[in-house]
Amino acid sequence: CGVFGVIGVAEAANFVALGLHALQHRGQEAGGIVAHDPETGFNSAHRFGYVRDNFTKASLMETLPGPLAIGHVRYSTAGSKGAVIRDIQPFFGEFAMGGCAIAHNGNLTNAAQLRRELIERGSIFQSGSDSECIIHLMARSIQKNIPERMKDALRRVEGAFSVIAMTRTKLIGVRDPLGVRPLVLGTLGDGAHVLASETCALDIIGASFVREIDPGEMVVISAEGIQSSRPFGPSTGRFCIFEHVYFSRPDSMIGGRSVYETRRQIGVELAREAPVEADLVCPVPDSGTPAAIGYSQESGIPYAMGIIRNQYMGRTFIEPTDQIRDMGVRLKLNVNRALVRGKRVVLVDDSVVRGTTSRKIKDMILEAGAAEVHFRIASPPTAWPCFYGVDTPERSKLLAAQMTPEEMREWIGVDSLKFVSLDGLYRAVGEAQGRNPERPQYCDACFSGEYPIVPSDQMERGFEM
Ligand code: 5GP
Ligand code: SF4
Ligand code: MG
Repeated sequence: CGVFGVIGVAEAANFVALGLHALQHRGQEAGGIVAHDPETGFNSAHRFGYVRDNFTKASLMETLPGPLAIGHVRYSTAGSKGAVIRDIQPFFGEFAMGGCAIAHNGNLTNAAQLRRELIERGSIFQSGSDSECIIHLMARSIQKNIPERMKDALRRVEGAFSVIAMTRTKLIGVRDPLGVRPLVLGTLGDGAHVLASETCALDIIGASFVREIDPGEMVVISAEGIQSSRPFGPSTGRFCIFEHVYFSRPDSMIGGRSVYETRRQIGVELAREAPVEADLVCPVPDSGTPAAIGYSQESGIPYAMGIIRNQYMGRTFIEPTDQIRDMGVRLKLNVNRALVRGKRVVLVDDSVVRGTTSRKIKDMILEAGAAEVHFRIASPPTAWPCFYGVDTPERSKLLAAQMTPEEMREWIGVDSLKFVSLDGLYRAVGEAQGRNPERPQYCDACFSGEYPIVPSDQMERGFEM
């Protein structure tokens, strides 16, 4: 998901709509905005579909006045899949000291247990979302102000969370102790402040990047300025390495690094680790493009657009059901026949999850007359599900959990299939020594099976680490 908030501008909701539009790649199912205006109080709108189709209409935006607003774009990893309007964030709670809206990116790993406990004690849940627990935990807190109640609530939840919240007068941002999901702070003009999942959302409104919110940090922004605190004590981050590989936008900066440059560097590592004689390097667009450029530059094999993407389709994996996903590949990608006929082609993609995409692309490219097909994947085999906010399927559906790389190659039906090593990936994100096995610098659980946060709900349901 993507989150965005701004305080101190006229018509804050318009800025939020723009910010969410820049974060649309983080969630395409639905979006919501809550704004506060001293005269009319809190107003909100929650809609299915793209931000640009909903939140640019003057009629809707006029219902969201005020200098303070937050928003969320959703893709479902928890809660009900598909169309339930009550699951669209931000969520809102009215407490004795006033209202509070929250928008959450990430996934809570003990939400099922918390929900059970809260329901037993009288909470009335409105949605199927794990994030709603935060509101109910806040309602039960005895603290006198909303930021303190949020701290209470967030000390009880486990998992990954980058949360943006707002009261009548404050914009709040928090990251979980490991900082698994991103969150950045920006400024706009004279004294306006912005919180966003990624820097690309600052760019779109002309805001300047100030810094990242630290893992385990809470910032409370009001007319008095910015207050920072560490509600969870000291901690070392374990940022999601897959944000670098796939999830974030290539024009965003993470930890001072360009996401594009990191992806290009993964391609360089791949070319060193898994060279092959071939005529063309082609990306599986768009997610494989920067790595393909790096592979081409390092290997000297010409880069070409052997697969063309229909720009009007969304990301296939964000569609919630397998059936739509299966069709999705053909609706979205087509082979550039004239280019690939008779050629030995290196195809570069970011990841193999179920293997559906790779297999379909192999069919299409062989049918178009390619002489050889060599897959190069810009991440290690995805053998474990993510419980922290990326929608990987259960283990039984992950190709790499069922097969060795050689079996995968055979199943996909290509001449070769190679994945970048975990160390190669760490080098590409700037860790010259590779992965530190004693204290890994990142979360890489979907590749290593080493979960930095115990997925306790899942374990209750029989998941074995
Ligand atoms: P597959 O067809 O192997 O299930 O999915 C691989 C494709 O989905 C890749 O082209 C990739 O761009 C995209 N994808 C990337 N990350 C993820 C993820 O975390 N989960 C899923 N399901 N798909 C992803
Ligand atoms: Fe990111 Fe993978 Fe960790 Fe999930 S399991 S947070 S996708 S690195
Ligand atoms: Mg892709």
